[in-house]
Amino acid sequence: MHLSPPDVGAAEEALVVAAMRSGWVAPTGPDLDAFERELAARVGCGHAVGVSSGTAALHLALLGVGAGPGSVVVVPTLTFVATANAVTYTGAEPVFVDCDPATGNLDVDLLSDLLDDLTRRGRRVAAVVAVDLNGTCADYDRLLPACAAAGVPVVEDSAQALGSTSGGRAAGTFGQFGVFSFNGNKILTTSSGGMLVCDDPALIARARQLSTQAREPVAHYEHREVGFNYRLSNILAALGRAQLRRLDAMIERRRAVRERYAKLFASVPGTRILGDGHPGSNCWLTSLVVEPAAAGWRADELGGHLAAHDIESRPMFKPMHQQPAHLHHHAAVTGAADRLFATSISLPSGSTLVGTTADRVFGAVEEFLTRRR
Ligand SMILES: *Cc1c(COP(=O)(O)O)cnc(C)c1O
Repeated sequence: MHLSPPDVGAAEEALVVAAMRSGWVAPTGPDLDAFERELAARVGCGHAVGVSSGTAALHLALLGVGAGPGSVVVVPTLTFVATANAVTYTGAEPVFVDCDPATGNLDVDLLSDLLDDLTRRGRRVAAVVAVDLNGTCADYDRLLPACAAAGVPVVEDSAQALGSTSGGRAAGTFGQFGVFSFNGNKILTTSSGGMLVCDDPALIARARQLSTQAREPVAHYEHREVGFNYRLSNILAALGRAQLRRLDAMIERRRAVRERYAKLFASVPGTRILGDGHPGSNCWLTSLVVEPAAAGWRADELGGHLAAHDIESRPMFKPMHQQPAHLHHHAAVTGAADRLFATSISLPSGSTLVGTTADRVFGAVEEFLTRRR
């Protein structure tokens, strides 16, 4: 059993085949237009542009807020590497900030101090990128005022958080730009793809243009600047439309998976589920934090037991300030992300985890707990 496999079937097949038969196989087409409209409506955002990956959407968002050579972008250290890589693509420098151990999301107190410090040192901060880890929204009630006070725009890396909410507001709408990923392991997949959302039509129009090699709207190929080949294909958009219709059902299944883990670990000392107590989460991944002194075992020992049963699990993201590709950048760290990396394990969380497959996975976890009791 994989950690977070694609959940596709007859509904997806029908729309993909229909898109092929319609003749709109070439880059763009009516399914892409419709997918952008439908996703923007679902999220409650004015505009959306479909792109080839979440990483591409992040790159375009950062260009949209003016990140580039000479500027810095604040990024949480506990994230997937794409968040930091997209900053370097623009020529800006990432600066890492540690997390709140309860959720793994950006530590807002630390962020405020860092913004003060960067301003004092005369650095131009182009953006703060907030990540909604495992589908739990960052603490926007405190984060947005802190960034507004510093005059710094927010880009929301909601790659993992499609369908999540916080205080009734949808993930993807908290920053100037929101970014979604439709990679194979995300809650909604187009096999590979992404979406950039924004309320400002001019900013979206510019991102859309940059995503199509910055082609000017004239008959011949005219380019005033260097763009990118980042558009999502019409065929993949058809797959996305079918997935979007099933989004709520897929979230419900992931939530049921998380509740089953919560029940299993409720009476196990030294364990907790990362980000628990945030009901708006789409429950994309369930990660378990294990304090070895209290539990009597380590997260990687559970991982080893699951691997022996052919069940995939994964350590939490290794923090960016520990990654060889990024460790030369400035980092404001408390050790919280390092500790989560050392003590957490992400467990199979997919919406296909039902029936006998689910029984096998939860049975293996129970067996481990019984042996360790
Ligand atoms: C998946 C992910 C991305 C990148 O999305 P791709 O579609 O794989 O390029 C960016 N940020 C976070 C937090 C992610 O989880």
